[in-house]
Amino acid sequence: MSKAEVSYLRFFNYSMGLRIGSGVDYHQLAGERKLFIGGVEIPHHKGAVGHSDADVLLHAICDALLGALALGDIGTHFPDTSAEFKNIDSKILLQRSFDKIKEKGYHVVNVDSTLCLQEPKIKSYISQMQSTIAGILELETDAVSIKATTTEKMGFVGREEGLVAYATVLLKQSKKE
Ligand SMILES: [Zn+2]
Repeated sequence: MSKAEVSYLRFFNYSMGLRIGSGVDYHQLAGERKLFIGGVEIPHHKGAVGHSDADVLLHAICDALLGALALGDIGTHFPDTSAEFKNIDSKILLQRSFDKIKEKGYHVVNVDSTLCLQEPKIKSYISQMQSTIAGILELETDAVSIKATTTEKMGFVGREEGLVAYATVLLKQSKKE
């Protein structure tokens, strides 16, 4: 057994094959744009600005997935200078990020996330977001938590200039057949 294998085994036994990842994403809000959050289109007079469909929640989850295995970030894998990703549905980016996790032999245990936005109220869309994300990540909906908060009208979120999402994921190494 090589030195690297020994140190990996030691690490694996210590962590039981668990890896944690965190992600954060920001987007500006502006008119003439659609608002996609968590893979769901939400009717609003402002939408998120970005190269893709600017889905702040899905992007934060992508970064958390990639981060858990130290695979870099969403900008490395899906550069915003690439025409391939112009206006792309971020559900595709989430699927591709998840595929990278699976290729490394891991699956997702659970996702916890928080959205910070002043308007609109998104409570009634949360269950739809949960099932969309759970469907992509091959999870039950109760393994996908989406919380939402305003910033009490403070800062750029409070002025409705932008929105933020934070995500944490736990991964576990899948059992070998
Ligand atoms: Zn983004």
